[in-house]
Amino acid sequence: MIHSRPPLNCQKCQFRFFTDQGLERHLLGSHGLVTASMQDLANKGRDSGRCPVCGKRFDWKLLNHVAQDHQKTLKPAHLSYKCTVCTATFGQYKLFENHVYQAHSGAAKKDRAKQQQQQHQAVKAAAAAAAASKAPVKMSKDITIIPRPATAGAAAGLQKVGKHSNKSIDYHFKPT
Ligand SMILES: [Zn+2]
Ligand SMILES: [Zn+2]
Ligand SMILES: [Zn+2]
Repeated sequence: MIHSRPPLNCQKCQFRFFTDQGLERHLLGSHGLVTASMQDLANKGRDSGRCPVCGKRFDWKLLNHVAQDHQKTLKPAHLSYKCTVCTATFGQYKLFENHVYQAHSGAAKKDRAKQQQQQHQAVKAAAAAAAASKAPVKMSKDITIIPRPATAGAAAGLQKVGKHSNKSIDYHFKPT
């Protein structure tokens, strides 16, 4: 079912995307919204990528280009990705993704997302206990995972929760 419709939808116009990067680029190009992770990169001078408006490639200062050359007023996009298993929310897709792998997939890699690991120690403990007692970790049917062709490790993690892969990410824009 991985080839079903894209799981991430823009809540401004209902366009759908397979990846958070796709959504990110769309938000920037169509709505002038800058995600926290993109802002982060811009602060470090590493906002590279293809301009979603004109298609030109930039090694850095992509946001500057969009703002100046396309006269867009950029606003922060406050996305929140919500884990529906433990209700933790994350402002960045990467953190959310790491959390789901770490806390709920059972295929966690120790070197990934140590911070989330700590924050969600309790959840992990519960998951470990459940695994030990051979009871599967109870998954909400609303859990939202992005299907990704991705790396081997991530793919392995995805397999376990893959049945939910065609659900939409629960995120929303907060008014600024
Ligand atoms: Zn849109
Ligand atoms: Zn451009
Ligand atoms: Zn969670």
